[in-house]
Amino acid sequence: MSTQQLAITDSIYDYLLAVSSREPPVLARLREETSHLPMAIMQISPPQAQLMALLVKLIGAKRIVEVGVFTGYSSIAMAMALPKDGRLVALDVSQEWTEIAKRYWREAGVADRIDLKLGPALETMDALIAAGAADSFDLCFIDADKVSYAGYFERALVLIRRGGLIMIDNTLFGGHVADQSYAGSSRASVEAIRTLNSSLRDDQRIDLAMLAIGDGLTLARKR
Ligand code: CA
Repeated sequence: MSTQQLAITDSIYDYLLAVSSREPPVLARLREETSHLPMAIMQISPPQAQLMALLVKLIGAKRIVEVGVFTGYSSIAMAMALPKDGRLVALDVSQEWTEIAKRYWREAGVADRIDLKLGPALETMDALIAAGAADSFDLCFIDADKVSYAGYFERALVLIRRGGLIMIDNTLFGGHVADQSYAGSSRASVEAIRTLNSSLRDDQRIDLAMLAIGDGLTLARKR
């Protein structure tokens, strides 16, 4: 047996879910509804959401900024882990997907903790910084268009406090990042993630861990 990284087969994954998943019914319903959408692959997995909710509690986060909402699975998981006076600022460009998210935010009872800002997230993050929000967030989750990842990361680093956490999704990108011969339609995304991944290894502004959960989740703690 490999001691490096267990390959997760379907039966191992099912076992993991059976003994550890605490997915709330509202998230199970959202996952089911989202699974019928053409972009369903963009939804994070229940174990990853559960980890992220745990991290919200571990660092005592009260203010979160999420870059990329889609239909709201991750925002609900994190918002439910916030204290009652916690806030999650949710950034997305899609009215269509976030209408679904809003419906589930209400159903999950977290709508009053979430502040949706529609528009290009780089601009919204710049506006937050300009408005004095630097160092005011505890946690940032980045899960939007991959070619802008480096830009999101730099702004996240400004927005969160020292000791705060940046979580970056899809950093293994279907494994394509490790395949130098990859020539598929997502080349620009793969290249952008490769560049970011390489730069994070040597970035002395952060403590770093890269998890092989879901499609790859990078954790960066601001020093
Ligand atoms: Ca994702």
